[in-house]
Amino acid sequence: MTPETLARLDRAHLIHPVSSWRDQEEHGPRLLSHGQGVWLTDMHGHTLLDGFAGLWCVNVGYGQDSVVKAATEQMTRLPYATGYFGFANEPAITLAARLAEVTPGDLNRVFFSQGGSDAVDSALRFIRFYQHARGTAGKRHVIGLARGYHGSTYTGAGLTALAAFHRDADVPLPWQHHIPSPDPYRHPAGHDGDALIAASVSSLRAKVAELGGPEHVAAFFCEPVQGSGGIIVPPRGWLTAMREACREMDILFVTDEVITGFGRTGPLFACEHEGVVPDMMTAAKGLTSGYAPMGAVFMSETVYSTIRDATPPGVAVGHGMTYSAHPVSAAIGLAVLDLYQGGVLENGVKAGAHLATRLAGMKDHPLVGDVRSAGMLAGIELVTDKKNKTKPAASLGISKKMSKAGYEQGVLFRAFGDDIIGLAPPLTCSVEETDILCDRIEGVLNTLM
Ligand code: PLP
Repeated sequence: MTPETLARLDRAHLIHPVSSWRDQEEHGPRLLSHGQGVWLTDMHGHTLLDGFAGLWCVNVGYGQDSVVKAATEQMTRLPYATGYFGFANEPAITLAARLAEVTPGDLNRVFFSQGGSDAVDSALRFIRFYQHARGTAGKRHVIGLARGYHGSTYTGAGLTALAAFHRDADVPLPWQHHIPSPDPYRHPAGHDGDALIAASVSSLRAKVAELGGPEHVAAFFCEPVQGSGGIIVPPRGWLTAMREACREMDILFVTDEVITGFGRTGPLFACEHEGVVPDMMTAAKGLTSGYAPMGAVFMSETVYSTIRDATPPGVAVGHGMTYSAHPVSAAIGLAVLDLYQGGVLENGVKAGAHLATRLAGMKDHPLVGDVRSAGMLAGIELVTDKKNKTKPAASLGISKKMSKAGYEQGVLFRAFGDDIIGLAPPLTCSVEETDILCDRIEGVLNTLM
């Protein structure tokens, strides 16, 4: 089909995720055609350096032959296998076992979902099962962070604290609550790490007290680096302090590593920076590097065995989906894990260090208020007055201008509102490609002057 026909059909039929339906119909789609390495080409032959790894997922880059081969072989041999009725398939079992070796601490049990949203929703259900199993069903409330993102199911959208996901949606649900984001640029405690950590711990304790005490609180959820809220990197020690506070209060500590997992911030999981072991952890995206849908909920032996032991023989733990532990996705997950362990993680660390250096050089730009990064995950916050940290007025239309300039400069990135540029290139990006990415981002910034 021609690009024109596709655009017409898109406007008429395809509902895009998290999009303005009006704008989509008015402007039509940008039609991507193929990808290789860190490069994308659209149907008009225009090339873009993918500075966002699709949607922060294509960590191993496009066109990885070993992944395509693994998927093709599995599709040919057994394209689907149910996990119901006691059945299982080899790639899913092997992937579960290999992940148990590399996940932090005793997160040795894994439930495979189809993506991040249903991983979060599944985690919330497992938390409920766990509290019932322990005889602490009164522990109902779940606390997250302001500016957190935890997916688009009903429960995930409520745990999320971004206005777009709450609008006309009747969430957060009555058991979902939020405490302030540990944003060193915007939090009153600022860049004083110790003060910010102390403030976060005391916000958590205050929220727990407000909810009637720990006997009413089931879990605290956080992203080790907040993604969709604007790439917010908490100070070192923050994760440890929050984990310890949760342990003390007997509240499950759950990390959502849907973005930060699989090398995005350097190590395989962001928890590893501080040696933190959560009670549960969600992941997706980099698990299959976006080559097929898959997510995961990892749980500790304690959480797992508590639910198992409280469920009588012959009674099902009532949670699962047709595509749980899908064999093709699992085969892809195994091939992708080989790539991470075969040098991709190492490359991400090297390119991430170079990215941080280049970002530091952008701080003097008149529109840049803050730059922050963790490995191959970075944010540039724009302000119109550096001293007062004034956000650009919506009337300036910065987001639309950035999107147009990005396409013209040949770079794909994500604009969060009118004030934050998000970068999450594939971990396979070379130092030279990282330079091209940064040169083009600087080019975009210069068009806004
Ligand atoms: N959790 C986090 C931290 C995410 O960033 C996302 C998606 O960006 C999700 C959950 C939802 O994942 P998915 O879009 O695969 O459903």
